Amino acid sequence: MQIDVLTLFPEMFAGILSESIIKRAIERDQAAVNLVNFRDYALDNHRSVDDKPYGGGPGMVLMCQPIFDAVEDLLNVGPAADEIVLLSPQGQPWTQQTALELSRKSRLVLIAGHYEGFDERIREHLPTREISIGDYILTGGEIAAMVVMDSVIRLLPGVLGDDQSSADESFSHGMLEYPQYTRPEKYRDWKVPDILLSGHHENIERWRRDQALQRTQRRRPDLWQRRQQEQQQQQ
Ligand code: SAM
Repeated sequence: MQIDVLTLFPEMFAGILSESIIKRAIERDQAAVNLVNFRDYALDNHRSVDDKPYGGGPGMVLMCQPIFDAVEDLLNVGPAADEIVLLSPQGQPWTQQTALELSRKSRLVLIAGHYEGFDERIREHLPTREISIGDYILTGGEIAAMVVMDSVIRLLPGVLGDDQSSADESFSHGMLEYPQYTRPEKYRDWKVPDILLSGHHENIERWRRDQALQRTQRRRPDLWQRRQQEQQQQQ
């Protein structure tokens, strides 16, 4: 998969690209990340990418021209983009389901905004979708782009050591994951549940499933309700 990121702050991505699973995925050619500073597409001597909002008001708004030019230039090279994603607090909430959907594409373009956000004509005419990583405001779209990149790249085939590990994780089946334990069997006064030491795989599976169901119902009634509705629709 190729991911192109349009950003005014490419240096912010140094950490995520040079550590852990993403670093390994890039080294193994499972993912390629191309950072583009759209300030390079500004036309004036000040390299301006933003201007005051029409109608007044605080802050600066990202202009159409540098962003359209950067995306169009990018798309002249390489495979067609499957998705052009605008990172925005006004977008569709990012979920594991959407991460899975995007992980099946070959090329994504992510556009990180800044300042007061984008000229509305960018939003209307450029992206295939707008994505929000949550109901809060970040200074810029870089952290949101990293969230999207990370959650998509780890779902690419072969990126995680054991493919099963993403299939069982929280949200994969509309549920939270069951509780996990590792050695020692007893730490302070706290023992690992006996069932996990029993070696009885069927019982362990059943216990994990029950735990996941109970945990989801207790902690995330919204997920629980959605799951119930989906199951009713399937019947
Ligand atoms: N004035 C905008 C509004 O109220 O919708 C917020 C602009 S925000 C300070 C600057 C940029 O950060 C946005 O254009 C977007 O790219 C990014 N951003 C901020 N919060 C975000 C979120 N929750 N999800 C995705 N991107 C976000």
